[in-house]
Amino acid sequence: MKVVVTGGAGFIGSALCRHLVAERGWQVVNVDKLTYAANLSSLAAIADHPNYSFVEADICDHVALGELFQTHSPDAILHLAAESHVDRSITGSAEFIRTNVIGTYTLLEAARGHWQRLSGEKRKAFRFLHVSTDEVYGSLGDTGLFTEQTAYDPRSPYSASKASSDHLVMAWHETYGLPTLLSNCSNNYGPYHLPEKLIPLVILNALQGQPIPVYGDGTNIRDWLYVDDHVRALVMILAKGRIGETYNVGGRNERTNLRVVQRICDLVDRHAGPLPRIRSRRALISFVSDRLGHDKRYAIDAAKLETELGWQAQETFDTGLEKTILWYLANEEWWRPLRRLASERLGLLAG
Ligand code: NAD
Repeated sequence: MKVVVTGGAGFIGSALCRHLVAERGWQVVNVDKLTYAANLSSLAAIADHPNYSFVEADICDHVALGELFQTHSPDAILHLAAESHVDRSITGSAEFIRTNVIGTYTLLEAARGHWQRLSGEKRKAFRFLHVSTDEVYGSLGDTGLFTEQTAYDPRSPYSASKASSDHLVMAWHETYGLPTLLSNCSNNYGPYHLPEKLIPLVILNALQGQPIPVYGDGTNIRDWLYVDDHVRALVMILAKGRIGETYNVGGRNERTNLRVVQRICDLVDRHAGPLPRIRSRRALISFVSDRLGHDKRYAIDAAKLETELGWQAQETFDTGLEKTILWYLANEEWWRPLRRLASERLGLLAG
């Protein structure tokens, strides 16, 4: 199996590349523009593997994509490249429209050209898997879950750009017959996560005794998914998913942001030892002005993926979070150079 992974130098993409090369023995071509969110050191474990290659390219560049398909003739595309940080989309949406909408369109066209030139078994087996977010469904009240039938209702520039890309993917299937698959997942967490996102930011601030910002009153609810569980779901959807279908991926781990932050404080207290002068790292929590248009609650119903394809999350939130914290404690050389990004967390500056 030879696949192109777009955005493979990002958080989920790098976990996917490591899994496919090291554990599945697939050939992987990682295509990434190397934006601020990329980190090639997350791929150090496979960088020299004969089944892995890296192409620095922008998914908006149709010439580069044409050459890529010509050179590598992949069996499938796993499309993860995106601008992914909601806070950044609020203070600067242009890159989100460019990469997430125009970039997905450009990639779909390049993939369609490639697929149409294929014949026989290779054409029949070709797949385009688009990785998207549950944020396209909008915000839930106190009850209910997002299913694959939930109407789209994106509310931030980020989720609107991802919703646009999802619609393009569905249209390329309906109109041209391109064999697409779509996955919409909840918030991922795990090792190698850029420390501008909530969980790694809180882990590192807790570790270093710095204030821990929590938006609003901390009651917003997210549904957490361990990144390697997500990777296993993607492989399963690619192998067994029905063409043209959407699969929701979620770990059934709903938590308020405050509960997540408090749990991290307690685990860092336990594993890193106490800080001088404070009894618990919970004392570092500081409530800051809420994010503009902050969605109240996300929660995924993953029943279709579980019953139709047989996927099950292997981590509970507690086991996944503990693994993640222990990884950050053991891998300071990975996160130390990225720490300045935490202080640039844009939503907080705007707040
Ligand atoms: P990330 O921000 O960590 O990584 C994105 C990668 O895409 C980076 O390596 C970046 O350099 C690359 N990229 C950006 N623009 C590009 C362009 N124009 N051309 C080529 N490469 C480009 O993102 P992530 O958290 O790994 O998310 C991966 C995908 O999963 C995204 O599509 C995101 O919308 C989706 N998703 C993420 C989450 C999550 O919790 N992280 C949840 C739901 C969906």
